[in-house]
Amino acid sequence: MESLTLARRLFLKKITGLGALVTMSFTTQKVLAGNRAALTSVRVAQSNEDHTRVVFDLSGAIEHDLFTLTGPNRVVIDLKNVRKSAALISDDHETNLLNGIRSSIRNNKDLRVVLDLKGKARPRSFMLQPNDQAGHRLVIDMHATQLSPTPVKTNQQQRQKKKKEIVIAIDPGHGGRDPGAVGRKGTREKDITLAVAKKLKKVISATPGFKAVLTREGDQFVVLRKRVEKARKHQADLFISLHADAFKSPRVEGASVYALSLNGASSEAARWIAEKENASDLIGGISLDDKDDLIASVLLDLSQSATIQDSLELGSDVLKHLGKVGKLNKDQVQQAGFAVLKAPDMPSILIETAFISNPKEERRLKSSKHQHKIAKAIFSGIKTHMKNRLA
Ligand SMILES: [Zn+2]
Repeated sequence: MESLTLARRLFLKKITGLGALVTMSFTTQKVLAGNRAALTSVRVAQSNEDHTRVVFDLSGAIEHDLFTLTGPNRVVIDLKNVRKSAALISDDHETNLLNGIRSSIRNNKDLRVVLDLKGKARPRSFMLQPNDQAGHRLVIDMHATQLSPTPVKTNQQQRQKKKKEIVIAIDPGHGGRDPGAVGRKGTREKDITLAVAKKLKKVISATPGFKAVLTREGDQFVVLRKRVEKARKHQADLFISLHADAFKSPRVEGASVYALSLNGASSEAARWIAEKENASDLIGGISLDDKDDLIASVLLDLSQSATIQDSLELGSDVLKHLGKVGKLNKDQVQQAGFAVLKAPDMPSILIETAFISNPKEERRLKSSKHQHKIAKAIFSGIKTHMKNRLA
């Protein structure tokens, strides 16, 4: 579904160039007993003239269907097994794109919500898991497809336009006083990650249109946050952290790739908000000082979940290529709360290249030839991802 991917990307660009939130309405309703989910509030926000977001706050995870109708233009969302709610009864749901919201009950159990539009729009929907600030949410993003044929470029888009190269930040895990995992023959993870990183940088730098930066150049200790800061300073488009796994059993083998999990992300989002100066430059230069923390967290949350989605796609492209040069431990991208992956605006993955605790893989990890193969596989995955992304 390329169009969805594109819509998401546009959405991310929009949110980073966020203007003003003009309409926000909050309605709460007590969650009633029973196994049907309740819609507890509906929030409508307009981030710029051709983008409107509707957020449904829900008492639990739900399933939904979404489709569009024309004459007049409208978006229809069926919320499965959700009861009708007073949250929908409100007049202030109007934006440049949205005329109003209606609802009705279908099949005695589903809630059908109709968003009446002022013109054609491309909708996208996704569920967000609960975090410290909010519960289950269904988000509908709508982009006008005819209101504004030449959208105003945001700072970030302009910056990206000026920048000719795709910048990849390569993060060799561990270093200095932190050796990382150690193999049975004494191979240290920190040396392997640096060796692979340098080869990856070489492969990337040899390719026109790409540039690579390392978060550490030698055997030094660098705290995780500094690694992300360094990548951001170079305006990196992607962040690739390199590691080698270890396990009790010497038989366990294969590469795995991680992206950030939403749970890991949400507490970090809360932390970013605590540091408002940092947070403001993360979401495209808008100041959060005059917005309340709830809005700020919704914005960061949305931008982060789009980034995680991007990271998952990047990770799966890289996994495919790693599978051609060695065994895979997990053939799906895993998700965890790694601190080094928590930049809300930069797709980031962590690659466990192999198990240093497996004697056969330890030997391969030490081989310069094999390190080069790993580097080339990672870069092939990156190129595949960037090609799909720009398509
Ligand atoms: Zn490691």
